Amino acid sequence: MLAEIDVAIIGAGVIGLATAGEIAQRKTEVFVFEKNHSFGLETSSRHSEVIHAGIYYPEDSLKTKLCVAGKSLLYELCEKHNIAYKKTGKIIVAVDENKISWLEELCEQGRQNGVDDLVLLSRMELKKLEPNIEARAGLLSPSSGILDSYTLLKFLYSQAREKGVEFAFGTEVVGIEKMGAKYRVEIRDREGISAFISRVVINAAGLNSDRIARLAGIDVAKAGYRLHYCKGEYFSLSSKYRNLVSRLIYPTPEQAGHGIHVTPGLDGRVRLGPDARYVEAIDYGVDETQGEAFYNSAKRFLPHLELEDLAPESAGIRPKLQGPGEGFRDFVITHEEKAGFHGLINLIGIESPGLTAAPAIARYVGRMAAELFD
Ligand SMILES: Cc1cc2nc3c(=O)[nH]c(=O)nc-3n(C[C@H](O)[C@H](O)[C@H](O)COP(=O)(O)OP(=O)(O)OC[C@H]3O[C@@H](n4cnc5c(N)ncnc54)[C@H](O)[C@@H]3O)c2cc1C
Repeated sequence: MLAEIDVAIIGAGVIGLATAGEIAQRKTEVFVFEKNHSFGLETSSRHSEVIHAGIYYPEDSLKTKLCVAGKSLLYELCEKHNIAYKKTGKIIVAVDENKISWLEELCEQGRQNGVDDLVLLSRMELKKLEPNIEARAGLLSPSSGILDSYTLLKFLYSQAREKGVEFAFGTEVVGIEKMGAKYRVEIRDREGISAFISRVVINAAGLNSDRIARLAGIDVAKAGYRLHYCKGEYFSLSSKYRNLVSRLIYPTPEQAGHGIHVTPGLDGRVRLGPDARYVEAIDYGVDETQGEAFYNSAKRFLPHLELEDLAPESAGIRPKLQGPGEGFRDFVITHEEKAGFHGLINLIGIESPGLTAAPAIARYVGRMAAELFD
C-alpha cells in the first residue's frame, strides 16, 4: 500500500517555503518536493531583491492586493527575525517631458491601490534627493525597499522545518493522478521512481507550474495557464559607483518589465537591470553584447555612466502568463474545484512582485488549504 500524506507542495522557492510554513501551523502533515538539491535555486534567487510598494497593477488584482499586504508582512518579518533590509524608497523617473503625465497617472493608480505615501517630485526636488540622477520629474515611493533574500529563504526554510515540514530535495514530481478524493503523486529521485498518496497537492513549481497543472490533468490551453519565459539580465557597475544613489531608481516601465533600473545593494554595490526579453528555453547565461543597450538605457538618467564600468552579472526568468505584446495578466492562485480537481491548488504566473507578495500569498493559500481540512 502507498504511503499517505495530507499536503504535497511542489517547489521550494520562496512561495513553496512560505506556504509550507503557513500550512504546517495547523498541525497538517506537509511535504515539500524540490527537484534541485536545495531550496531557492531558481527564480527566487535571481531577481532584484526589491520590496515593491504595489503601485503598478490594477486596484482589484491579486498582484496589487498581495503585494501591498505582503510588503507590510515582509518588513515585519525582516525586523523581527533579523533579516537584513533597508526601506530605501524608490524614485520612478521621467526622462522626457512627455512621460510626466504618465507619472501623474501612476501616482493616482498607486493611491487607488492603497499606497498612500507617494510624492510627485519636480526636477529640483529630485536633484536634491539624488544628485547623480538627471530627469525631468520623479515619483517617490518611500515604502519601497531592498532585502537580503537569501537570508529570507533560509529563515522560511528553518521555520518550516521547525513546524514539522518534511523536505525531499533532489526529488522531481513526474506524475499526478486523481484517485477519488485524493492524488497519486509520482516522484523521481536518486533511487528511481516511486509514488505516494496526498489529500492536497499545491503546485508552486514556478517556471514549471503550467506543466505540473497539465500533469494533473488540467487543460492548460483552455484554462489560459501556458507560461511564456521572459528573461531579465543584470549588469553590475564598477566599485566607483558604490553609493551612487541612495534609492532605487526606475525609469518609466517598458512593455514586459519595469524598465532597466538602478538597484543599490545592501552593501552599497550598484546593479543595472533587468531587461526583458522573451525566450524559448531556460538559460541563465548573461549575453555580454547586451551591455551597450543597458548603457544606453541607463545613460538617459545617469549622465556620468561609462560603458566600461558595466560587467555582466546574473539573469533570471519571469514565468509570464502574457505573451509578447499581450495585456495585463494577474497571478493565478486557484483551488481547481470547478475544473473537477478538488484538493489541487495551482499557483501559476508568479512573476514580480512575487517575492514581496510571498508572505501574503502563503496566508491566502493557507486559508484555501484550511477549508479543505475543515
Ligand atoms: C528578473 C526578475 C526580477 C524580479 N525582481 C523581483 C523583485 O525585485 N521583487 C519581487 O517582489 N519580485 C521579483 N521577481 C519575482 C520573484 O522573483 C518571483 O515571483 C518569485 O521568486 C517566485 O517564486 P516561486 O517560488 O514561485 O518560484 P521558484 O523560485 O522558481 O520556485 C519554484 C521551484 O519549483 C521547483 N520545481 C519545478 N518543477 C518541479 C518538479 N516537477 N518537481 C519538484 N520541484 C519542481 C523548481 O526547481 C523551483 O525551485 C523577479 C523575478 C525575475 C525573474
